[in-house]
Amino acid sequence: MPHAKAYAAADARSPLALTRIARREPGARDVQLEILFTGVCHSDLHTVRDEWRAVMPTVYPAVPGHEILGRVVKTGADATKFKVGDLAAVGCLVDSDGTCPECTAGLEQFCANATFTYNAPDKHLGGVTYGGYSDTIVVDQRFALRVPAGLDLAGAAPLLCAGITTYSPMKHWGVTKGKKAGVVGLGGLGHMGVKFARALGAHVVVFTTSPNKKEDALRLGAHEVVLSKNADEMSKHAGSFDFILDAVSADHDVNAYLNLLRRDGNLTLVGAPEKPLSVSAFGLIMGRRSLSGSPIGGIAETQEMLDFCGKHKIVADVEVIAIQKINEAYERLLKSDVRYRFSIDMASLKSE
Ligand code: NAP
Ligand code: ZN
Repeated sequence: MPHAKAYAAADARSPLALTRIARREPGARDVQLEILFTGVCHSDLHTVRDEWRAVMPTVYPAVPGHEILGRVVKTGADATKFKVGDLAAVGCLVDSDGTCPECTAGLEQFCANATFTYNAPDKHLGGVTYGGYSDTIVVDQRFALRVPAGLDLAGAAPLLCAGITTYSPMKHWGVTKGKKAGVVGLGGLGHMGVKFARALGAHVVVFTTSPNKKEDALRLGAHEVVLSKNADEMSKHAGSFDFILDAVSADHDVNAYLNLLRRDGNLTLVGAPEKPLSVSAFGLIMGRRSLSGSPIGGIAETQEMLDFCGKHKIVADVEVIAIQKINEAYERLLKSDVRYRFSIDMASLKSE
């Protein structure tokens, strides 16, 4: 059994540290990647600290990372989608049954038998799946995406979660020219949401709790920026939004944003805070507004998003870090201090 280097959390309180994990030999339809960059998603932190234990408890050791960009180093006999040496990317899914109505519709994220990239039962090796904080990964080629030429690789890695998670609901809810779209929380997901809403032609407004992100929000593509703690600034937008994407990782008041939707407007939660949110019935009833959620995206749509990024030259704004800085990076995520995604240079794992 080949072994890989990885950074893992031994329990909910320990820092991540170097370990060795098993990876399977590539099967007939598998590809093996040498991982070049892995983005750091707030979901990694929620998982490592077992903050989602009510829904998906963490099994330790936990190796997070689902924004994976790498180079193909091995292909199975029937894996013809890639050649050795090609770039390839892996997001939040590594398997699904491929036969259910969701899979047939290209919506693998809803397949009851989907396997997440980390902390999901590993049907090949037993135990749980291990993610991209590692030097290598083996996946079914169906779940390896093509990377458009010309994109910065460190910045392209976060497209595999932050990118698709914001692109998919915007396409679903018809964010386009002539629509007013809001993005709440200018973190990893939020800043991608701004880039996509702008590229799709909408009028884009960012809501942030961080006054020092105002200039960045405009540079990233927002037409307006609202400091969400300022009630006067908020009330100016009452009843005006077609769509609002909420990408906040912690407890906050969603009712303040429901009130900003116009008739039939939609607020989609992509942020997944640990604790339940409270919702005012009247915020929804008045104006026939809707509140929904959205998980990542299907494989075909993820490829569509990557191709869209290739065409529009969209990547995440990243701060490249060595894997040895991962615990510091988590502390900075908790302080909303990331501009705007950490991307781990996996070459740093070679020296360990
Ligand atoms: P992140 O980079 O840490 O960004 C979160 C942002 O939320 C912060 O930058 C901050 O923006 C805002 N925020 C943080 N604490 C806040 C508070 N107490 N009140 C109000 N705003 C606050 O996180 P991320 O990686 O973008 O992930 C965001 C959330 O989406 C996480 O919960 C993650 O697990 C979830 N997620 C969901 C999916 C999905 O499929 N639905 C996929 C990936 C991630 P400002 O400084 O601008 O206020
Ligand atoms: Zn993620």
